[in-house]
Amino acid sequence: MTYKGFATTAIHVGQEPDPVTGAVTVPLYQTSTYAQEEIGVHKGYEYARTHNLTRAKWEQNLAALEKGTHAFAFGSGLAAIDTVMKLLSAGDHVIAAEDMYGGTFRLFDKILRRFGMEFTYVDMTNPDNVKQAIKPNTKMIYTESPTNPMMMLTDLAAVAAHKGSALMVVDNTFMSPYFQQPLTLGADIVIHSATKYLGGHSDLVHGIVATNHAAVAEQLTFLQNAAGAIPGPFDCWLCLRSIKTLAVRMKQHEANALEIAKFCAAHPKIQKVYYPGLETHPQYELAKRQMRGFGAMISLELGSKAAAVAFSRAIKVFTLAESLGGVESLVCYPVGMTHGSVPPETRAKLGITEGLIRLSVGIEDVEDLLADVEQALASI
Ligand SMILES: *Cc1c(COP(=O)(O)O)cnc(C)c1O
Repeated sequence: MTYKGFATTAIHVGQEPDPVTGAVTVPLYQTSTYAQEEIGVHKGYEYARTHNLTRAKWEQNLAALEKGTHAFAFGSGLAAIDTVMKLLSAGDHVIAAEDMYGGTFRLFDKILRRFGMEFTYVDMTNPDNVKQAIKPNTKMIYTESPTNPMMMLTDLAAVAAHKGSALMVVDNTFMSPYFQQPLTLGADIVIHSATKYLGGHSDLVHGIVATNHAAVAEQLTFLQNAAGAIPGPFDCWLCLRSIKTLAVRMKQHEANALEIAKFCAAHPKIQKVYYPGLETHPQYELAKRQMRGFGAMISLELGSKAAAVAFSRAIKVFTLAESLGGVESLVCYPVGMTHGSVPPETRAKLGITEGLIRLSVGIEDVEDLLADVEQALASI
């Protein structure tokens, strides 16, 4: 069954009552193998790396939310990305965004390059850069929008127009399908670190890939089993539970973030606020056009390392930690935490300075968050 609304889809697709008992939540199939009636005669389930019904229900749910035909779950966001990259072979060329999650850059640069894959990093804010970087062996265009931590956008439809026969992959972690559905804008593959908004409660590490491309789905079915980076069934079950509240969580995340971004933009101790929901963001018009909301990730330029350190020490409701997308607000210091593996010259070019801090705005009461940010700024 398909539904028009996002929340209805999240709550019901793949989440039908169990036909055996009527249980309203999907059962947790915590098993590694399945009994066979006789050799070669079974119910379609042989071994749990290949088939697990809890996982399959979660994959069906997420595919519907991303407007894809198929989805595949993995043990982490990076396991999802690594498996997608196994669609390619030695000698293939990838055009990737220069402003990406540090762990993705590390996977490409330190591991996949050793296997003979070629990468060109471009500024994806200008789709012409992608067009110019295309080579006869270009097989993939890989981007994140908005990027981490500088909140720059890729015009996904414009890049898709240049992709030719290459696959276009979008890491949609920061927006979740509630705010952005890249497959509807011309992407072939969407990736999430479900550790973040999809899981939403900072209690699991998980990744997911969605596609609407039949040949890609067939290859990913093979790779998920053959390379084996699958998640455990309990994490899939937790995702099925979390996804039911994604719509209400994202609305509250965004409402809180918008208030905090506006407060910060007017504060004399903050030199710059990076948030696509502010009219001063250079791509505000694009953000309004391609996203249904602006998300809840905000980066702040405090001007110096001393200011960033003082802020992170003084802030109380926000917890100093890596990661994002949970119900609780977090603060992170990209240079010393998430982006340590990005070369210093790249960081300098992108604006990832020693004075930059990144907020993941949670869904606490916004009055408490604003008071916390205000008192922390007073200490710097
Ligand atoms: C966290 C993150 C990843 C990596 O996901 P893990 O679940 O930590 O492996 C990839 N992309 C983005 C944008 C992320 O924030």
